Amino acid sequence: MKIAIAGSGALGCGFGYMMKKDGNDVTLIDFWDDHINAIKENGLSITVNGKEDNVIIPIGKPEEIKDTFDTVFIFTKSMGLRQMLEKIKHMLTEDTKVVCLLNGLGHAKTISEYIPQKNIIMGTTLWTGGIDAPGKTHFMGEGPVEVQNSDENEEEGTREVVKMMADCGLNGVYSQNVNFTTWRKACVNGTMNALCSLLDCNIKELFETSQIDQLNKKIVSEFSRVAETEGVHIDVEETVNYLKGTAEKVGEHYPSMHQDLKNKRLTEIDFLNGEVAKQAEAKGFEAPYSQLITQLIHAKEDILGIKR
Ligand code: NAD
Repeated sequence: MKIAIAGSGALGCGFGYMMKKDGNDVTLIDFWDDHINAIKENGLSITVNGKEDNVIIPIGKPEEIKDTFDTVFIFTKSMGLRQMLEKIKHMLTEDTKVVCLLNGLGHAKTISEYIPQKNIIMGTTLWTGGIDAPGKTHFMGEGPVEVQNSDENEEEGTREVVKMMADCGLNGVYSQNVNFTTWRKACVNGTMNALCSLLDCNIKELFETSQIDQLNKKIVSEFSRVAETEGVHIDVEETVNYLKGTAEKVGEHYPSMHQDLKNKRLTEIDFLNGEVAKQAEAKGFEAPYSQLITQLIHAKEDILGIKR
């Protein structure tokens, strides 16, 4: 399978490495000069679950890459998705499958502007990763990577992608309801990710506050109401309990949005609480908690001098 990784940061490098090590033809695509040059000169240095390795893997900017691909995995941040799709248009054929595992909501709609519905594979992953320096990343977990084709009649092609991910140790599984998984993950990020960022605390500290139950209930209720309009049922009480269970497991961890702000990088808030507030407004109701959280995160980005 000829694979491109469009967006080769923490997850992109982790996925690319695992697929390349298993013998797939993998090309990394990115915009970040220092990172690209480091990988071109020294290969990709990566630590997977504590084990260090180095792999020689092709990498370039979109304009440098003339090939077309069977499968493209997108690993930009949410706000980089459209720009990346624009830049890689020449690499997509009428059969290229695009796999999107980004956090956030509304991505399938954006991708559908570039490729037919039958070729869109949406999913979520529990793998985590980070960038230690240009050309040096780490990747952790055991998966799974849950994916489902956007067109239910096109399961077969997606099953090949699932098999490839299972073979290379990424633990790919075919999901029966990826929309539910995506919304549930958005509930996690829209509560603990956003609130830890605003309160400048870790997840354990957040869940020790007197306000957490009420905040989670209010935010999840808004997400649930919008999800329902898309035919996805999010049970508020069950989700709030799920959040508690997740928080107990991860403990003193600072979520990714907190780290984005610390590193003076733009957050994905517009594709989480921001998207819920936007969709609610478009559908004629209000999502005041999501709206306020989005505005406060943007205000924080402004204070930190982060450009949108
Ligand atoms: P990332 O920030 O590591 O990489 C995204 C893009 O930003 C890449 O193109 C990368 O090269 C670029 N980039 C990163 N640091 C840069 C810098 N200092 N200068 C210039 N460019 C830079 O993103 P990620 O963590 O791989 O996340 C990709 C998507 O996957 C997001 O939607 C994220 O929410 C989701 N996700 C991430 C994790 C995780 O643990 N990292 C887990 C689950 C889902």
